[in-house]
Amino acid sequence: MSAAWQAFDDELARWGEAGRSVDFWWRDDDACREHPALSRLLALAERAAVPLGLAVIPEGAQAGLFDNLPATVAVLQHGCDHANRAAAGDKKCEFPETDVQVDALARLAKARSSLMAVTGGRALPVLVPPWNRLGDRLVISLPGAGYAGLSRFGACKVSSAGAGLVEINTHVDLIDWRGSRGFAGEAAVLGRAVRHMAARRDGRDASGRRVDGAEPIGWLSHHLVHDEAAWAFLARLFERTGGSPAVHWRHPAELFALP
Ligand SMILES: [Zn+2]
Repeated sequence: MSAAWQAFDDELARWGEAGRSVDFWWRDDDACREHPALSRLLALAERAAVPLGLAVIPEGAQAGLFDNLPATVAVLQHGCDHANRAAAGDKKCEFPETDVQVDALARLAKARSSLMAVTGGRALPVLVPPWNRLGDRLVISLPGAGYAGLSRFGACKVSSAGAGLVEINTHVDLIDWRGSRGFAGEAAVLGRAVRHMAARRDGRDASGRRVDGAEPIGWLSHHLVHDEAAWAFLARLFERTGGSPAVHWRHPAELFALP
């Protein structure tokens, strides 16, 4: 067993010894069309019996995508069209701060209703902004636009709590976007997970900042760019955690407190 898996198992054992269980959840982004990688993702979720938050791009989403989708898969709204509207040189973003607020809200409303239509009403009122970026001004308008939840990357921001939104983020990205654009490797991915788990267990992170011990840890995947190593990692992660009393894989609806 690699040192990375050993460290992960050791951290899980610490949770077990403390009589606690850590909450994990799984989000996969960029579903829109039927694709062999999407079929593989859904088959993996079913085989592992792990609930999945599938972030679907509303524009162009195929109705066939949602046929026979089990209840363990929650559909989340991944922006509107996943187009980059950031100024040249800025980080990619579908909803930059320079965007006219009413235009952004109108786009969201249209996308939300088309996603509800194509999914037969099963999309949760949860927004997953592309590239995990959404300006604060828009965040505070989301509840008024019918959203109950938001999911970005990293520790939850105070702005969403103030806005009356449930923010449930992802923290461990499987993909090395700046380098290989494939699996980031066991050492990097498990290292990140172990740091988050240890911080939740201690109530503070490595630099001493207070951490909400109850914040679930989100694993982020992108089926369309998975190489074999990414698929193998996910399968192994589910195998090792599936039977562990120290891990609870939570359903997105439960986390966002939605029926
Ligand atoms: Zn995306």
